[in-house]
Amino acid sequence: MTGLADRLMLFEVPTARMLGVEQLAGAVCVWCRSPLTGGAMDLGGLTGFRPRACPPCFQTRVAVLGAYDEWYGHTMSCAVCPGGGPCPSGGALRLHYAQVHQAADKEPMRCIYCPQQITSAEDCLPVVWDGVSVPRRGWVHTACLDPGKQS
Ligand SMILES: [Zn+2]
Ligand SMILES: [Zn+2]
Ligand SMILES: [Zn+2]
Repeated sequence: MTGLADRLMLFEVPTARMLGVEQLAGAVCVWCRSPLTGGAMDLGGLTGFRPRACPPCFQTRVAVLGAYDEWYGHTMSCAVCPGGGPCPSGGALRLHYAQVHQAADKEPMRCIYCPQQITSAEDCLPVVWDGVSVPRRGWVHTACLDPGKQS
């Protein structure tokens, strides 16, 4: 898979200013902060910022990326999900994403509009928008996209 490390850097690795010295140097895992010995995954980076990850965290974050890709890809091509779905596949993809998101011990999913935490009972959609210089990924309540549709 080309660009996997780049995409992890873009969407999963915290920005450099949120990291400690050991994380910046790649001495500890950039996610769980456990000391790295053999088998650490190199995530690329620039001079002074060489994030590395332990294999379990790496696998978990790759799973998050993949689950988001599938879910987002589906909602982009689905006629049902964006208008207040989800359709059965959209619902399954969202459930799968929520599971890997939780397994990765990430901050709870928050709606970019309202901006409350998104509970499993609420419909939501993945959204990608332009950040300062890079794309950002997030989620939005389906109801917040079009409040008029809320019955
Ligand atoms: Zn780790
Ligand atoms: Zn759908
Ligand atoms: Zn919302």
